[in-house]
Amino acid sequence: MKRISILGSTGSIGTQTIEVCRNLKDINIEAITANSNIDIVEKQAEEFRPKLIAIMNYDKAEELKERLSKTTMSNIKVLSGMEGLVEAATIESADTVVVSVVGNIGIKPTYEAINCKKEIALATKEVMVSGGSLITNEAEKNGVRILPIDSEHSAIFQSLQGNSMNKIHKIILTASGGPFRGRKKDELINVTAKEALKHPNWDMGAKITIDSATMMNKGLEVIEAKWLFNVDVSQIQVVVHPQSILHSAVEYEDGAVIGQMGVPDMKVPISYALTYPNRIANDFEKLDITKVGTLTFEEPDFETFQCLDLAYSAIKTGGTMPAVLNAANEIAVAAFLKGEIGFMDIPNIIKNTMGAYTVKYNYSIDELLQSDKWGRQYAKSILK
Ligand code: MG
Repeated sequence: MKRISILGSTGSIGTQTIEVCRNLKDINIEAITANSNIDIVEKQAEEFRPKLIAIMNYDKAEELKERLSKTTMSNIKVLSGMEGLVEAATIESADTVVVSVVGNIGIKPTYEAINCKKEIALATKEVMVSGGSLITNEAEKNGVRILPIDSEHSAIFQSLQGNSMNKIHKIILTASGGPFRGRKKDELINVTAKEALKHPNWDMGAKITIDSATMMNKGLEVIEAKWLFNVDVSQIQVVVHPQSILHSAVEYEDGAVIGQMGVPDMKVPISYALTYPNRIANDFEKLDITKVGTLTFEEPDFETFQCLDLAYSAIKTGGTMPAVLNAANEIAVAAFLKGEIGFMDIPNIIKNTMGAYTVKYNYSIDELLQSDKWGRQYAKSILK
């Protein structure tokens, strides 16, 4: 019996993890957390009866406590804030923690979970982007496995199975290209959040969908892949593949390319992360390759999608620079979603924030969180 804690159970990955759990018989949910959506949390609690619920928003946590007290769920412990999130991440009865919160909020709980020797099923790429060296070192020290849920990284991980003795020559990281593939800079100045939120293939949360439109998502994934698979960034090739059928691939030294294909459905990588090394049958949609017909691959347009370039530059600088890139991106994307800035302001804000920052090497978790905070504050200060 697998016992899991889900950090961020009401978001896109969280709710799909819940669906996967319904399909997997041998699994128990020990803790769930959410930002503020207590209606969904209450329903999930009713179905899965966790021991602990953590709600980031204090008032919402109080409201949930009040609601549960009148039901048969009054014995469920309800906590709030980062403290609650960390408690859910380190709850003794869980052996695996699914990290599917939005953004950098996931760093501390993931770090603490690793220290408590929990296996990590990681959907929140920002954790690896910001804290890559710290998180991977800590995982190695504690003998903890980090299983990727991000579809590309799951594909790479799957392509590595049975090849532990073979060196990776190159990773082929596929990108859909997002809703603005093929457009040039001047055609993107006036696009709205509504247009950017229309992703052609994947159904995801708002933050990651905007990241796909700017291609920052792929930039963050390059950094994530570097840490997860211990390769140099020069070995990671981003390839635009609009059909999103080949989820990524590994090229070995003999020239063989092994990839993983399937319909774009996050439930497959979630399921594999929770049942690894086994594969469990499901009734999710299957790939009909003759219906897909043609798979195409092209070079990304670095000139138009500058965020991709900024991510490469941040990881080449190293240290705390990727944390600052990520922090500035989170602020810029939130501002774009609120209509405060234009689409092409996103890379500019990130670039200027990185330019103003003095990078730190050999950082602690506190210094990491500090640089994240600095990045946010600086990006906010230049929004207008
Ligand atoms: Mg992905």
